[in-house]
Amino acid sequence: MSAVKIIGYAAMVEGASLTPFTYDEPLLKANEVRIAITHCGLCGTDIQGIDNYYGIVDYPFVPGHEIVGTISEVGTSVSPSRIGERVGVGWQGRACGKCEWCLKGDVHLCMDVADNGSWTPYGGFSSSMAVEEGFAYPLPERMDSEVGAVMMCAGFTVYSALHKYYTAPGLRLGVVGIGGLGHLALQFARAMGFEVTALSSSTHKREEALALGATHFISTLDKVTLSDAAYYFDLLYITAHGGIPWEWMVSLLKKRGKLVLSGFPDLNLDSVDLVAHELSIEGSFLGTQQDMRDMLVFTQEHRIEPMLEMLPMSQVNHAIEKLKQNKAHYRIVLVNDF
Ligand SMILES: [Zn+2]
Ligand SMILES: [Zn+2]
Repeated sequence: MSAVKIIGYAAMVEGASLTPFTYDEPLLKANEVRIAITHCGLCGTDIQGIDNYYGIVDYPFVPGHEIVGTISEVGTSVSPSRIGERVGVGWQGRACGKCEWCLKGDVHLCMDVADNGSWTPYGGFSSSMAVEEGFAYPLPERMDSEVGAVMMCAGFTVYSALHKYYTAPGLRLGVVGIGGLGHLALQFARAMGFEVTALSSSTHKREEALALGATHFISTLDKVTLSDAAYYFDLLYITAHGGIPWEWMVSLLKKRGKLVLSGFPDLNLDSVDLVAHELSIEGSFLGTQQDMRDMLVFTQEHRIEPMLEMLPMSQVNHAIEKLKQNKAHYRIVLVNDF
């Protein structure tokens, strides 16, 4: 049987613009499903992937990991009743199922996770893809596909992190960076019960941040307000990639406070306060499969709404430029127009 051809958009070499790329449909493993893609969100991680920032991608590289589509084919061990189901897929598409982390249910920490991204072998900026069935999540009926797409990475990342650290009502949380992740973090945090402050260098985002769930707004350019907030926060959640005033971050935390990172910024911290105040820095990466399912329910229950714009997938390079120039408000979802 000759293989069906798939069309995607690929970076042929590191840092390149994406170009149409045709490849053979991968063989479906027994526990996998094939998805006819209708929508795929664009994430900062896709751009870092194109630039090989993580050193884990092969070229040609088809990015895209906020995927929504319909199951078109199932492997031999998957129930055929899943054909036709509308699903979302995030960054992770598989897990080894055997390592200590998989056995504990922490599949996102799988020892083979770098090879188990949904963009391996080729990601969501294409007409079709295959993933393990447990990573193809049924979307709530009333959730629009473009919303589902954004929730697969941005929503999942933020929900998992905040959910993990929410231990008591009124915990003081600072969300640093109001963009794709940050604007969702404000909504989730407010709904969970944190006391929420938005911290950003973009003072024009103040009203929007307050409307999204923040009780206070701090301009990270305003040294007086930053000084006033010394020792204020239990938790600072860093969602920005750059422009973070690291010298202030440790001074804003209460003793034994936590600095939680979900993006991949370059770190520049002074160790003195870190040690003397017994602060911790922690990374939060994706979440478990249960977190993903819980996030979808929570999003519906609390009417969390990502702010997004849609573009045809054929305009993927335009979308990348827009995101790079910080002109997206806040997420971009590409709609398949193959
Ligand atoms: Zn992402
Ligand atoms: Zn594993």
